Amino acid sequence: MFNQTDQMPVIRRVAIVGSGLAGLTAARLLGERNVAVSVFEKSRGPGGRMTAKRVPGGSADIGAQYFTARDPAFLQFLTDHAGEASFGVWQGRFGYQNNGGQWESFPDEARYVGIPRMTAITRELSSTIDITAQTRIERLISNGGQWTLRDTDGGSHGPYDAVIVTAPPAQTQELFANSQLQMLAEELNEPVRHVQPCWAAAVYFADPLEQPYEGMRCQDEVLYWVANNSSKPGRDDQGQWWVLHANPEWSHRHQDTSPEQVTADMVKAFQRVTGCSEQPDDVVSHRWLYAKSSAEETPGFRWFDDQCIGLAGDWLSGGRVEGAFESAKGLVDRILPD
Ligand SMILES: Cc1cc2nc3c(=O)[nH]c(=O)nc-3n(C[C@H](O)[C@H](O)[C@H](O)COP(=O)(O)OP(=O)(O)OC[C@H]3O[C@@H](n4cnc5c(N)ncnc54)[C@H](O)[C@@H]3O)c2cc1C
Repeated sequence: MFNQTDQMPVIRRVAIVGSGLAGLTAARLLGERNVAVSVFEKSRGPGGRMTAKRVPGGSADIGAQYFTARDPAFLQFLTDHAGEASFGVWQGRFGYQNNGGQWESFPDEARYVGIPRMTAITRELSSTIDITAQTRIERLISNGGQWTLRDTDGGSHGPYDAVIVTAPPAQTQELFANSQLQMLAEELNEPVRHVQPCWAAAVYFADPLEQPYEGMRCQDEVLYWVANNSSKPGRDDQGQWWVLHANPEWSHRHQDTSPEQVTADMVKAFQRVTGCSEQPDDVVSHRWLYAKSSAEETPGFRWFDDQCIGLAGDWLSGGRVEGAFESAKGLVDRILPD
């Protein structure tokens, strides 16, 4: 595993835990550098929080709503690896409620979305990657300077020269604790505290609503964001699906409330925020336990040289989709400097 000339580890096989944008970015960039990569994902498919929920007649982006690409390298990466057809600009009107409750428009900025749904991007990114889905990694086992991964069904994977974990902090901490990596686990105490939950709902109106904005950041005791999902490019909905996100404090207080009660409260809040009196014709909900990180100072990524373990993910780089890309890119550049 060690190159005798400069004592830098030679990394030829890498395991990546998680197939959200950070995991898939790392996998693509390592693959370009001829590193053999295996990705493990606990869910049924790739995408992580860039997800879409199937709803009658289509799908609704229930996690990430849109993303920025302020770094031209991100747009280039998406074009090269996911393809131009998989994403585009959401030409909506976007507003926020100021402290006085008045609506103001957000400054113009390109807001990108997956087409025809958010998962289009991660589906394309994952198309050439070796992904083992429905496999939750619960332990890393060190063996002669290499790593074997054990999953919750008792399966064993490896060996690998390095492991990159892209799970949210609480899940990463649990993995480290199970792996007798106590010091690494303790380093995550603070990031774990910064992670916030979010209740999300998609609500359907057969008769389209007229609203001044397609995306609205609200000042409400329940809601933080509402958006007309059907206004995104490439959606082909009859009627309108709206996505509602509750604010972190309310979501935290209602973490264990029933989905029925939560959606009833969120619909009432939607009517309060938008002034619409219609009842939705359909409602679907989703609880995100680890939605976003509120940490302000973030290191970009982590690389533990002694163990050959790396951490990447949005929570290490600003808490958004573009941050997940930046984090994974930064880590790969650190592991394989030019
Ligand atoms: C409600 C909501 C709204 C959001 N809105 C926006 C927005 O408008 N704009 C924006 O830029 N960002 C938004 N975000 C944040 C954005 O979704 C994330 O920043 C980004 O998707 C994170 O990517 P990631 O790869 O770092 O993590 P994730 O997407 O969380 O990927 C981690 C993956 O690891 C997997 N995993 C975890 N543990 C294990 C394990 N033990 N074994 C195997 N797999 C494991 C998980 O299943 C997951 O697929 C939003 C997020 C939420 C939840």
